[in-house]
Amino acid sequence: MKIYLQGHNCKYAVEQMLLTLFPSERPEYPEGAQTGDGCTVSLAVGEKLVTSRCRLTLDGSTSFGRAALPRAEYEADNLSPQRCAQRLVKLAFYRAALRSGVKKPAWGSVTGIRPAKLMTALIEKGMSERAALGEFCRLYDLDADKAQLCLDSARASMAASRLLAPRDICLYVGIPFCPTRCAYCSFVSVAVEKSLGLIEPFLNALRLEMEATARVVRELGLRVRAVYIGGGTPTTLSAAQLRQLCASLRELFDLSACREFCVEAGRPDTIDEAKLRALAENGVDRISINPQTMSDAVLRGIGRSHTAADIVRAYELARKCGDFVINMDLIAGLPGDTPDGFAETLDRVLALDPENITVHNLALKKGSAITLSGAAQASAGDIAAMLGTAQRRLGAAGYAPYYLYRQKFTSGGFENVGWSKKGCENLYNVCIMEELCSIIAMGGGASTKLVSPTGRIERIFCPKYPREYIAGAEKVCAGKEAVKEFYNAVLSE
Ligand code: SF4
Repeated sequence: MKIYLQGHNCKYAVEQMLLTLFPSERPEYPEGAQTGDGCTVSLAVGEKLVTSRCRLTLDGSTSFGRAALPRAEYEADNLSPQRCAQRLVKLAFYRAALRSGVKKPAWGSVTGIRPAKLMTALIEKGMSERAALGEFCRLYDLDADKAQLCLDSARASMAASRLLAPRDICLYVGIPFCPTRCAYCSFVSVAVEKSLGLIEPFLNALRLEMEATARVVRELGLRVRAVYIGGGTPTTLSAAQLRQLCASLRELFDLSACREFCVEAGRPDTIDEAKLRALAENGVDRISINPQTMSDAVLRGIGRSHTAADIVRAYELARKCGDFVINMDLIAGLPGDTPDGFAETLDRVLALDPENITVHNLALKKGSAITLSGAAQASAGDIAAMLGTAQRRLGAAGYAPYYLYRQKFTSGGFENVGWSKKGCENLYNVCIMEELCSIIAMGGGASTKLVSPTGRIERIFCPKYPREYIAGAEKVCAGKEAVKEFYNAVLSE
C-alpha cells in the first residue's frame, strides 16, 4: 500500500496498523502527495487539540478516519508525546479502515507484542480496575474478553513486580538442539540426528559463558530470582549432561533467592526417568511438557515422532519422579486441526490437571517448513473459536490468565496466553513478557535483555547456531562486559 505521512514520523506505528488490518499488504513510501489508491496519515498539533487524520483510498473508494486528544494530555509526562502521536495515527488509520469495510479485529486498534502493559499503565496512573477496563476498551476499541485478559495479566504483572528489587534478574540458558525439527518451527534449533557430535563442544563453550556471566553477576551484586533452561529442547541432552548443567548453574550462581528453576522438557520423546530424576535432584521445580495437540494425526502432520499416548506417559512419569509444577503448551491453528479437535485436546490436557497451560496461536515465520510448503493456514474464524473455547474451559476449570503476548504472522492477530492455577504462576514468564527485570541469557541463540528501572532496554545476542556459538565462545564471554557497562550507567542515572 502506498503510504504518505504528514506532520509526523510515526512510520512504525502506521506499519503495525497496516500489518494488523491488511496483512497481505506491504508499505511503500512514494514521493509527493497521494493520487489514487493509498493512505495519507497526518498529525497536527493545534492550540487545544492534537489531531490525526487519515484518508484511505482502496479500489478508488475513499474513507476517512480521525482521532484527537487534548493537547494537555498529549504533553502529560506519563505518556510521552511520541507515544501519544503513535496512538493517534494508528487510531485514525484504524477508523478509516473500518469505514472502508475492514472487519473489526477482536483486538481493535491494539498493536504490539505486550498489550497488558497498556492496561498496567492505566492502573498505575491511579485508575480503578473497573475504570481502566472501560478506558482501555474506549481507547482501543477491542472486545471485552480481550480487555479482560489484559486486566488479568496486568494484575499478575503488578504482583510479580512487587516481588522484585532493582538488582533482581532472571537467568536464561538456551540449548538449541531438538530430536527432530517440527514443521512449524522457526526457532534456532538443530535436529540432533544431524548434530550429535556438537553437543559436548557446545556444553563446554556454555560452561565458559556461564563462568563469565557468573563473575559479572557477582561483581554487580545482582540477585537471581528465576532460572529458565529453554531451547530447543533441553531434554535432548542426556541425563548426565542435564545433571552437569544444573549442577554448574548451582555451583556458579548464588541461587539462594531464586524462586523457581524451570526446564523445558518440551517433547515427550526426549523424556525418561533418568532425566527427570536428574532434574528433580538438582533443584529443578518446574518443567514444561508440550503436547501442542493431543491428535495423533495433527502430531504426524507437524513432524512430531510421538503420539498423544506418549505425552500422557511422559506426564505421569514426571509426576512420579519429582514435585514439579508442570506446564503444558498447546497451539491453536495447527494444520489439520479443527475447533472440535482443539476442544478435545483441551479436555484431554485438562484431565491431566497440570498447574499451567499455555495456549499459543500458530505463528508461521519465514523459515518454517509449513510456510515453505505453502500449506493453508487455519482461518481467523477457526482460531477465534479455538481461543474462545480455551478461555471458557480454562476459566471454568480454575485457571486464570497471567501473561499474554501477541506475535506477528498469526492468522487474525490473536494472542498467546499463559494460564495458571492460583499461586503456580511462572515468574520468569511474567518477567520476560512484561519486561519487569533483566533477563541475562546464555547459550545458543540466547538473547539477553537488560532492563533499567526507568524502562531503558538493551539487548545482547549470542550466536544462533551451535557451530557459530562454539567457535565464538571467547567473544561471547568478552561480550558480558556490556552487562557491566549497562548496570554501571544505570546506577549513575
Ligand atoms: S520442539 Fe520446539 S524448538 Fe524444537 S523443533 Fe519443535 S518447535 Fe522447534
